[in-house]
Amino acid sequence: MFLTKSGISVTRVEASRLSGVDFDNLPFGAAFSDHMLFAEYRQGQWQEPAIVPYGPIPLPPSLSALHYGQSFFEGFKAFRQVDGGIALFRIRDNFARFNQSAARLAMPEIPASHFIEGIVELIRVDHEWVPRSKGASLYIRPLCFACDETLFVRPSNSYRFIVLTCPVGQYFAEPLRLLAEERYVRAFPGGTGATKAAGNYAGSLLAARLAQENGFHSVIWLDGMTHRFVEECGLMNIFFVVDGVAITPQVSGTILAGITRDSVIVLLREMRIEVMERPIALDEVAEAAKNQKLTEAFAVGTAATVAPIESIRYRDSDIRPAVRKESSLAARLLACLEAIRTGRQPDKYGWLLKV
Ligand SMILES: *Cc1c(COP(=O)(O)O)cnc(C)c1O
Repeated sequence: MFLTKSGISVTRVEASRLSGVDFDNLPFGAAFSDHMLFAEYRQGQWQEPAIVPYGPIPLPPSLSALHYGQSFFEGFKAFRQVDGGIALFRIRDNFARFNQSAARLAMPEIPASHFIEGIVELIRVDHEWVPRSKGASLYIRPLCFACDETLFVRPSNSYRFIVLTCPVGQYFAEPLRLLAEERYVRAFPGGTGATKAAGNYAGSLLAARLAQENGFHSVIWLDGMTHRFVEECGLMNIFFVVDGVAITPQVSGTILAGITRDSVIVLLREMRIEVMERPIALDEVAEAAKNQKLTEAFAVGTAATVAPIESIRYRDSDIRPAVRKESSLAARLLACLEAIRTGRQPDKYGWLLKV
């Protein structure tokens, strides 16, 4: 064991699993790096974090997170830079969102010394796990869950904070074929839709599976009150380009404020493309498509970055953007984000944190 400069204890694995990983063929989220960051919350405070070998942790069956779902996560990436270094993309924003999720779920916020410094140290320890191939990255998954051993329903008094990382390859996907989901909803006013609460994902699985069984990649979530307004696309935010204007639903309590979404808005404005954050009904999108004004639609999120949409099945017909590949904004945005994240383009907005 040794201590890092910021005082985090590190216990190294005896034998690294690195050589067993096929970096040319990385399945998403299935190969975990050698170490994880670990901290406990008890007696009203976060205890010192530690970096330890990745592995199983013993948990009692009475663990309150398992019964009542007091649990949430984050997700973002570290990128290999053109100069060979490593940088985290917008970690401060993920840190802020982590604590917003915590507050909504009546869980304790975590200090930056644990989240930001802890993750920087974790990546230094596992730096060889950050891929070097084009489009690849190290996905970082912070997790926080309730640890009281009780069936009593109340906010827990003890929690665990764990950060796992996994190398992920470039995301290749065919343009998305989506189904507008009119029966199930992901979120509703006053609920937890704006957080990365574990339960949100459990509640979304059935609709996603039914859509996949019918040949769609994913669903378009509509608002929980009228089922008319577009909210999100699976686990991603969504943009429509109508008459040269990029329209995305405004973030309210029912939409997750994606950091990719925010980055895309900044870049679109830099490209002098008008962006509107406002409610958009699927009927309006269908009408725009009919009039040849819907030139593009795409979904955005950390995993895929920018994913073009081919079609949206709504009632009995397909909404199809009239996208022309060579002029697609989705491709330009993807290339631009890729260049910033790898240090090929200047980091004007202070999005990178060097490890
Ligand atoms: C995480 C997430 C997003 C995208 O957020 P990013 O910060 O861009 O990765 C969008 N919608 C939902 C429901 C999410 O969980």
